[in-house]
Amino acid sequence: MKKTGIFYHDVCGKEAYSSLAMGVEAGFKSIEKEGLYSYPNVKWFESQPATEEQIARLHSRKWIEEVKRTQWWRVSLYSVGGMIGATEKVLTGEIDNALVIAGVGGHHAHRDNAWGGCYFSVIGLGIPHARAKSLGKRFAIVDTDTHHADGVRDLFQNDEDVLHICFCDSFSGVYGAEDRLESQTKFCFPHGYSDEEELRNVAREVPARIREFQPEMIYWLMGMDTHLDSYGTAALTEKAYPRLARIVKKAADECCGGKLIVKTCCNAPPHAANYVIPRIVDRLAELGKYPEE
Ligand SMILES: [Zn+2]
Ligand SMILES: [Zn+2]
Repeated sequence: MKKTGIFYHDVCGKEAYSSLAMGVEAGFKSIEKEGLYSYPNVKWFESQPATEEQIARLHSRKWIEEVKRTQWWRVSLYSVGGMIGATEKVLTGEIDNALVIAGVGGHHAHRDNAWGGCYFSVIGLGIPHARAKSLGKRFAIVDTDTHHADGVRDLFQNDEDVLHICFCDSFSGVYGAEDRLESQTKFCFPHGYSDEEELRNVAREVPARIREFQPEMIYWLMGMDTHLDSYGTAALTEKAYPRLARIVKKAADECCGGKLIVKTCCNAPPHAANYVIPRIVDRLAELGKYPEE
């Protein structure tokens, strides 16, 4: 069994960007409801707020000041702080893997601007923190959210120590090929439009690239806006997510000692989060409580 940390603060549930992040509090509470904290290898770490210094590693002071004047400042700090805490604890080996439940998105955040319920690069900020603490240098980010991760792609486009595998909806019309900034370490692939097709695409594109790249840790943005009842591809049932987790976790187990951080902001309705979140914890912590469906 693996030691799994859950990173969440009440601010992330109560002050979530709720038009997008619908099931944040429900998702977190479902872990307790399902009794998963009775397993000694599952532990909740209350997310601490990130500091401005930590955020300034990727964002401009001007943008930080701008976000400070919005209602999304506090929830952004706790969301980024959860990611920073998880990054530190996984890389030092205190825990094996983690689930970060954030109240905002992150992958549309650039240095000076952001859109789509994103303010700061939640996953992205884990990386300079790890490097500042000499805990790691080389990371993979797998993004299965519906939308193209334009912010992450932009922030890390010249960083050859970051492998970025982004599944995005090429039909959204927002991004053309020239915006995807693809390279030897930055990839975009289409989503599947059924559970089976999505799983096939991820199994085909992710594990081999991770094996070749040899990251020290994998970050997986488990966007749930691909769920049937959400606003993205609306293609997947809740059963797809624990199955995706198995693919990504196996890659982490084989390539980087199991070091994996899953980030979600539960951007699907509570009924989906209630099903998915406990099962993600189950897969991460190897509890074997829920059989494969
Ligand atoms: Zn999205
Ligand atoms: Zn993309």
